This record gives sequence, C-alpha cells and structure tokens, in this order.
Amino acid sequence: MVAKKKISERKIRSPIITVLGHIDHGKTTLLDYIRGTIVQKREAAGITQHIGASFFPMDTILDFCKAPESLRKKITIPGLLVIDTPGHTAFMNLRKRGGAVADFAVLVIEMPTGPMQTTWEAVRILRDKKVPFIIAANKIDRINGWKPEKDADFMESYNKQNKFTKELLDKYLYETIGLFYEEEFPGIERYDRIQDFTKNLAIVPTSAKTGEGIPTLLIVLLGIVQQYLQKKIEYTDGPAQGVVLEVKKETGYGMTLDCIIFDGHLEKGQQIVVGGLNGPITTHIRALLTPKELDEIRDPSKKFSQNEIIYAAAGVKILAPGIEDVVAGAPLRAVGSEDNIDDIVKIIREELETINISTDDE
Ligand code: GDP
Repeated sequence: MVAKKKISERKIRSPIITVLGHIDHGKTTLLDYIRGTIVQKREAAGITQHIGASFFPMDTILDFCKAPESLRKKITIPGLLVIDTPGHTAFMNLRKRGGAVADFAVLVIEMPTGPMQTTWEAVRILRDKKVPFIIAANKIDRINGWKPEKDADFMESYNKQNKFTKELLDKYLYETIGLFYEEEFPGIERYDRIQDFTKNLAIVPTSAKTGEGIPTLLIVLLGIVQQYLQKKIEYTDGPAQGVVLEVKKETGYGMTLDCIIFDGHLEKGQQIVVGGLNGPITTHIRALLTPKELDEIRDPSKKFSQNEIIYAAAGVKILAPGIEDVVAGAPLRAVGSEDNIDDIVKIIREELETINISTDDE
C-alpha cells in the first residue's frame, strides 16, 4: 500500500483536544465560531469531519490566528483533532494506558458568572486524569462598556477599552482565579502575565460572539501543546491503539464501532482486539468509515466514505463481525503482522480490568 511509506515520516500526531465547561457558558458557540470563521475565510480550509471529531489543519489555524512567523517556524504538529461533542465528560473518562485519551482541554467559563457545578466537575476530572488545560473566560463582550472588535487579539481589544471596563474584566477574572485558589488550584493567571506555562495555568478572555480573544486562545493553546506535550503526542509507527466512543447500529451497515484512534495506524482487513462485556473480542475490520462531506451525500444511507488506512489521531467508524458485545469506553488494538495475538488479547484483558466500564460510560 502506497500510503504505508508515509508512516516513518510521521513523528508527531495531532493532539486530541476537548472543550469542557458548564452548560450555556459557550462551548458550542466557541467551536462553531472557529469552524465557521475558518470555513468563511478560506474556501479550501481543509477542515475534515471525523467520527465524533473535527480536524483543523495547522496552516488553516495559523492563518486564522494571524500567527507570527516566529510561532509558525516552531509548530510541527499537523493540526488539531477537536472532539465534536463539547462538554462530553464521558469522553474525558475514556482512558488509554497511563493516561486520558484527551491530550489537552479548553475549559470554558462565562464571565462574570464564573465557575459553576459542572465547571468544578470538569476541573476535578482534568486534575485526576492529569490533562493539561487552559481556561477561556468567555462572553467578555457582555461586560459593561465593552467595545467589540471582531476577531481581535485579546490585548489589542483590551487596550482599547476604557479604564472602568478594563478594571471590571480584571475584577471578574480575579474573582474566578480566587475561587480556583480556594479549590486548591493555585497559579492561574491571565496568559499575558505568565512567564512559565509549566507553573501557571493560563486564562484567556474570549468572546464566542465577536471572536475577540479566540485567535489568542488558539495561539496560547498551540504554544503550550507544541512546547510541553511533545512526548504525549509522539506518533508510534505501528498497529493502532484506540478507544471505543460508541457502539451503534447504522442503517445500511449494521453494528459499528465509533472509535478514536490515538496512536499508530489501522488498515482495512486487519485483525483487531477490542474490549467486550465478557472480555476481549477478536475480529477483523470489514470497513473503515469516515463521514462524507455534506455536499457529497446524495443517498442518506451512504453517508460514509470507505478508507484503506487510517492514521492517528483520528475518529473512525469500524465495521466488523461479532462486535455486539463491545462496550463504550473499551480499549482497541490492531494486530500487526509481527504481533502475537495472544499478547494483544492479554493487553486488552489487562486494560479492561483497570477500567470500570459501567461507571465510565455516562
Ligand atoms: P454551551 O451549552 O456551553 O455549549 O453554550 P452555548 O454555546 O450553547 O451558548 C449558550 C448561549 O450563550 C447561546 O445563546 C450563545 O449564543 C450565547 N453565547 C455563547 N458565547 C457567547 C459570547 O461570547 N458572548 C455572548 N454575548 N453570548 C454568547
């Protein structure tokens, strides 16, 4: 297969990003804004739909952020794989060996409301799973006296506000920072006042309505991921590792597995081992499906494209026999030509024992 040659060239994969926060604080609007603005600005934006996620290519993001040349030179990650269901705490609970499936999170908090119950739930999960994150202090356009400036960098817009409005925003930010301190989460600071991002957690003011601060949020996110997450997003040349997001009956296809692949590659016809209710299930891939572009769908029962090979990080729908007992949250591994299947079964069995599927699944 021609595509195989490319594997050795890939050293770093796209980080898997999730957006969390309390209901109505603006998660969906924020994601839609980024997607919508990028699509509007560039015809061939290259954003691709995955199963359960969207892929944003790096050049497109950098253009949207008007990223400085110095940052462009540093970035080697191919793009961002952003989980489509914002606030999906079940997704956060999906585990891979030694960590969470999400590499990085954006925690959205509405200003001046501040953190609410679900915010704290998300914070605890992030802390437990050791997932690094940044905070988007959202809805700054609603602050008294705020003069909006579409898509502006946060500092650019902030510097144009009057003294009263600036003080008001800072007051709201420090109230939130204080609440985090009380929850034993010290060291949160406005991003521009941070020297060392390993010691402080960044808060970036945003508006998902006017776009202010959104380029800033992405630049801070890219900087952190590129600099500190290299190890986490290393691509290992080999058979895929993933987790099952959902087990679903699909019209025209039967039972399917919606999976997030976080390492390696997966091929059509390949043998896989996946976690089931009663232990590991060994099967083989009949088809690897990804969503078709909306304008390509003529027949609604044919809404997927077939793929020969899929590289991490990716969201993919797997068609395979005998998967009825597979459970959401279960680990998945592909069996390579040099692998001993018994070893893989053993790994999956061990992984299944370390996760409590019934509580992990919302
Ligand atoms: P989610 O539940 O966190 O996904 O929140 P939504 O994205 O659905 O947003 C909830 C409401 O807040 C919607 O009416 C949005 O239009 C509005 N909203 C979201 N972000 C902003 C923002 O930055 N500024 C303003 N003014 N409204 C916002």
